[in-house]
Amino acid sequence: MTEVVPRPLKQEQLPASDEIMEIAPGVLRAQLPISIPGLGHVNMYILEDERGVTLVDPGLPEKSSYEVVKKRLDQVGVPLKRVHSVIVTHSHPDHFGGAHWLQADTGCDIITHEKFRVFWDPSEPPDADIDDVEMRSKPRMPWDAPPWGGPGMEIPWKRRARIAVTRKIPRLLRLPTPTVRLVDAQHFRFARRDWVAVHTPGHTADHLCLFDPEHGLMLCGDHVLPTITPHISGLIRAKDPLNLFFESLDKVAAFGPQVKLALPAHGNVFSDLAGRANEIKEHHVGRLQRLRDACIELGRPATVMDMSTYLFSPRSQGGMADSETFAHLEHLRLTGEMERTESNGQYQYILKD
Ligand SMILES: [Zn+2]
Repeated sequence: MTEVVPRPLKQEQLPASDEIMEIAPGVLRAQLPISIPGLGHVNMYILEDERGVTLVDPGLPEKSSYEVVKKRLDQVGVPLKRVHSVIVTHSHPDHFGGAHWLQADTGCDIITHEKFRVFWDPSEPPDADIDDVEMRSKPRMPWDAPPWGGPGMEIPWKRRARIAVTRKIPRLLRLPTPTVRLVDAQHFRFARRDWVAVHTPGHTADHLCLFDPEHGLMLCGDHVLPTITPHISGLIRAKDPLNLFFESLDKVAAFGPQVKLALPAHGNVFSDLAGRANEIKEHHVGRLQRLRDACIELGRPATVMDMSTYLFSPRSQGGMADSETFAHLEHLRLTGEMERTESNGQYQYILKD
């Protein structure tokens, strides 16, 4: 009998450490616990200057998480009222969660990219060039059937109920209200440095990295992670999310050796940002090839769910896997390699001759 050996955890999956590390002068990394499949913690960076501190990505919108934010500040001897700014790299709850409380308790600024908006916000206009405006702009619940005709996400009823209530009464989710919305290439000063905003859509449409040219630091959120690849959803309101992500990977890779240290939202800091960005791009290029090969192997029009089994292991199958597969298939369609038809309410893809 073979023994089942559990796979070692990746660094992004390790539980939050209580240790606070100095990454660079005036830049500390603390970790907050999160309960999201595949992730064990989120890094909250604490950057100090003459006005007090700026926090980057202060964890989930849960009281217990906010208690840890306060504990971490306590550990480094910073009174809560010294927080003057919170930077949120993108509109996912493990990044924006604590921002609302921090603003309520301290009156701090909340800094995001100008497009910052949670994905179900009906006021968000879809990109003008999207050709499936109707399908991707309809407000939907995560468990609703997606446009490609597969099953919705499997979400336990307790969480469903919570999501349904917070959709009706969004203030229960304690969504942050940004006070500063940065545009690409805008300069912004905090932590005794001038930072440059780098808009990096892909993982979300509003993803923001910040670059400190003087010390070569890049706050890179979920855009580039050290050992896992960020989820690319086919459901963000952009025409070709995977292409956006490719462009954003090239964009940070173009900084080359100017970046001495990348500060990701999960896992450890790392030095070769360009190398890692290229590696992630290669990973997706490989997946595109696997889909072309799968098309030939199947020899018939394939649904998103058929194709998902070629990209993801059985234990990873489900709504998120399908959504990422859809992003890849749509990329191949929009670049002219595949054709999409619809049959029995399901999208089907075939390679063009
Ligand atoms: Zn994220």
